[in-house]
Amino acid sequence: MKKKTFWIGHIPVLALVMLLAILLGTFGTRTATVFSENASLKNRHRIVIDAGHGGEDGGATSCSGILESTFNLEIALRLEPLFRLLGYPTEMVRRSDTAIHTQGDTIAARKASDLKARVRLANETENALLISIHQNFFSESKYSGAQVFYPKTEGSQALANVLQNAFREKLNPGSTRREKPTSGVYLMEHITCPGVLIECGFLSNPDEEASLRTPEYQKKICCTIAATVSDYFAS
Ligand SMILES: [Zn+2]
Repeated sequence: MKKKTFWIGHIPVLALVMLLAILLGTFGTRTATVFSENASLKNRHRIVIDAGHGGEDGGATSCSGILESTFNLEIALRLEPLFRLLGYPTEMVRRSDTAIHTQGDTIAARKASDLKARVRLANETENALLISIHQNFFSESKYSGAQVFYPKTEGSQALANVLQNAFREKLNPGSTRREKPTSGVYLMEHITCPGVLIECGFLSNPDEEASLRTPEYQKKICCTIAATVSDYFAS
């Protein structure tokens, strides 16, 4: 019985070794070079994915009554496996409908503690790249489209620019939105790593809000973000 378990337990490892041997045998040193190039590129950044708000802080409320924090979490959870697939290590600020404060007797105090904890996570993560996911809301329903905001940290503006262009090409054709510096956003003003804050769409626009509720549109947003970030750092 023991012997059987030993062999079954080792099949995946054997299969992996054989696959690598076949790949190296077939493609020679180029494959090895690609592996090592990718390894050095991917080592540059650990992607910190911040699903904005959470818990008692729901953020904005959509025109159909859904909290922004729900959209943010769904998109963040879809984004993580894509970055993993592309070889990037990831850190999630939250994986459920919760805030990450450590103290506070009032809502305001807990909100401040929550934001400080998010800053701490980004700043204590080695080689971090912060991607903060939010949704927009405006009093008039006509506005739509994703918009990328960037902090003052080195490299953030350039990344925001390529992401905004990608959104215009792949998600919101005809959009005239431009990337913008953040203003008065505590998290973005206190991080020391590069980062972007992405407002994926307007919860005040009924058409866009309906799209944002669908897995298909959320996946399109996530593919755009992950593929663009990966291409940007590979080039
Ligand atoms: Zn928000």
